Formats: sequence, structure tokens, C-alpha cells
Amino acid sequence: LEDMMVRSEKMNVAGQLAAGIAHEIRNPLTSLKGFLQLLQAGVNHKEEYFKIMIEEIEKIESITSELLFISKPLTDNRTDEIISDMINDVIMLLSPQAKQKNIRIVKLGVCNQTIVCDRSQIKQVLINLVKNAIEAMDNGGEIIITSEDVEDNVIVSVIDEGIGIPEGILHKLGEPFFTTKQTGTGLGLLITKQILEAHNANFEVSNNHDKGSTFKLVF
Ligand code: ADP
Ligand code: MG
Repeated sequence: LEDMMVRSEKMNVAGQLAAGIAHEIRNPLTSLKGFLQLLQAGVNHKEEYFKIMIEEIEKIESITSELLFISKPLTDNRTDEIISDMINDVIMLLSPQAKQKNIRIVKLGVCNQTIVCDRSQIKQVLINLVKNAIEAMDNGGEIIITSEDVEDNVIVSVIDEGIGIPEGILHKLGEPFFTTKQTGTGLGLLITKQILEAHNANFEVSNNHDKGSTFKLVF
């Protein structure tokens, strides 16, 4: 396993977000305006245009709802949480979605460590990572979630069998709006990073030997 740490670049998140929002919302708006003008002029293939317009609106919707998540003052109830319980919740929540792509999400080992954290925030982190894992896997397979003690840290790993991450973009993960997906928002890992920072934790990414990648949460 070749470890490639994500450089934690100091960035002005608010500034990048503002620029990003303007850009990310203007593009679908420009396209919506263009299609409306075409429809106003009277064209054929209306169905196709409507379909694209709805997709553009959905893009704006998902960006705004993720932004709300970022801006909303998070409730922060720190309690002792057993990692295994949070993993089980996430597996229950996302297994139906995974199953549709022939993917199994499994917990490896007992994972009986406890961490002091906000349960719903850390679950959100795991959800973001498992969703990315599902989206990276097109031929079915397994996503493994496990935890281990390493010196004074607890490390929770999400291991997938997906397409992996080109080395050249590793340092961009967690930048606002960085996405390689047609319908991605590029906000999942930013939220992940912010939640982890609030817990004095961070994440490390590496590509697996054979295929896929591993996200390690270091508490
Ligand atoms: P989004 O999922 O909306 O694209 P994220 O912030 O969750 O935004 O992820 C940013 C990018 O990181 C993805 O577009 C993808 O290129 C890459 N990525 C994240 N997780 C994985 C993974 N498990 N396998 C491959 N690429 C990944
Ligand atoms: Mg994502």
C-alpha cells in the first residue's frame, strides 16, 4: 500500500466558496436561459430540452442543499460513541443503494473502540466516504469499513474496489467544488474535512495495490 497523504493546504475557504458558488450556479443558469430562449422561439425536441433543464435545476438544488449543510451551525453533542454502532448505522442506510450496483458494504472486525464525537457528524463523514466509494465502483464488489488502534490514535478506514484516484488530483480532494463527476457537487470531502477538523482529526487517502482506494480517518 503506497501512502499518499493529502496535503492540507491552507486556503481561504469562504473566498473559494464564494467564487465557486458563483461559477457553479451561473453555468446551469446560463444553460437554462439558453434552453428557455430556444423554447420561446419554438423548436422541436422539446422533451429533450426539458430533460436537460430539469437536470440543470437538480444540479443547483444539490449544490444549495449541501451549502446549507455547511453554513448551518452544526449541533455539537459530544458523547462517547462506539465506532461499530456508527458503522452499522451507515451500512444499514446505504446498503440498499449499494445493492443496486451489486456492491456489498461490510464491517471488518469488532470495531469496539470508542471516540468522543458528535455521532451524527461522524456518521455524515462515513456516509460521504461510502457514497464516494459506491460512485467509484461500476462492476460491483466490496466496500470494507474497519477500525484499528495505531499508537495513540484510532483509525477508521473505508476501503473500496473502485476506479482509484489519479495521483495528480490527490491534493485537490476537499477543495470546494472539486469534482470529476458529471453530476458531482465537489462538496462532500470539504464537509468531511471540516467535520474532522472540528474533531481534531483528519483524513489520509491512498490507492490500493490492486484496485480502488482507501480513506483513513485518524482520530
Ligand atoms: P463529489 O462526490 O460530489 O464529486 P467529493 O468532495 O465527495 O465530491 O469528492 C471529490 C472527488 O474526489 C470526486 O469527484 C472523485 O474524483 C474523488 N473521489 C473521492 N472519493 C473517491 C473514491 N472513493 N474513489 C475514487 N475517487 C474518489
Ligand atoms: Mg461525494
